[in-house]
Amino acid sequence: MPACPECENALDIDADDVEEGDVVSCEECGTEFEVVATEPLQLSQVEDEGYDDEDDEVRDEEEE
Ligand SMILES: [Zn+2]
Repeated sequence: MPACPECENALDIDADDVEEGDVVSCEECGTEFEVVATEPLQLSQVEDEGYDDEDDEVRDEEEE
């Protein structure tokens, strides 16, 4: 079972429950990981920054 590199919590992920491209998060610290492969299970940490587009971000805070 992979361990979270941030807090070393064992990530309770069943490879049967996830698919490539799924995003799972560490229950301890909230760090998110993308499933890049399931056999064997491989995770890639999702960076908060660096998205191509941030249209989802609420950034209209001109009102004060
Ligand atoms: Zn963690």
